[in-house]
Amino acid sequence: MFETIAFDADDTLWHNEIHYQEAKKQFSQLLSKYQGADYARQRLDETEVKNIDIYGYGIKMFTLSMIETAIDLSDGRITGPEIRQLIDIAKEMLTNEVELFEHAEETLEKLIPRFDLMLITKGDYFEQERKIALSGLSGYFRYIEIVMEKSQEIYQSILAKHDIHPHRLLMVGNSLRSDIQPVLAIGGRAVYIPNEQTWFHENLPVEEVDPTAYDELEHIAQLPDLIDRLMKDETAS
Ligand SMILES: [Mg+2]
Repeated sequence: MFETIAFDADDTLWHNEIHYQEAKKQFSQLLSKYQGADYARQRLDETEVKNIDIYGYGIKMFTLSMIETAIDLSDGRITGPEIRQLIDIAKEMLTNEVELFEHAEETLEKLIPRFDLMLITKGDYFEQERKIALSGLSGYFRYIEIVMEKSQEIYQSILAKHDIHPHRLLMVGNSLRSDIQPVLAIGGRAVYIPNEQTWFHENLPVEEVDPTAYDELEHIAQLPDLIDRLMKDETAS
């Protein structure tokens, strides 16, 4: 039986990737006098992935990746005012409002009488803290974990810290790489709620995660019913 339902935050409870998509559009427009838009976006994606190990995740890392890509794509001709525009794009992202997904809050409200709820989000601590505060959802969570990476080891250490057995955990998220695969690997269960706005880096090739090992929902409002079904099946077996 589940005791703890853990939620990813970005693009599971609230919109995040749309802001990156908008910023990437502005980036490629700004760079259009130096390079074609598609190529500029592709190079920015490559720079971001390459920089994860150095900077981690978040808007500040994204800003440095935009500047680095702009310097490369313009052969060093990018101007001070243009870099200033990139910084302004990032500042706008950092001060955006938090827009909850439809049904996110009512789903938490339904689950809170029966389960311990946990929020597990990865990224820059300052950015994530701000979004959690603005979301108005923090009161629903018994545990809030902001981590640098969502690896098996990190999940294990979170569970150990709170004395939660992996079989008692259900993780809900939009990323096969971060929310589903590592949780299955440590013996937890996972619910995948795909979002069309998911960053390509968060997806995994099908052969890397068995699609029969997790449940998939179209939207978060379907979660309480699914949990009931899973718990019934478990009692029956
Ligand atoms: Mg996410």
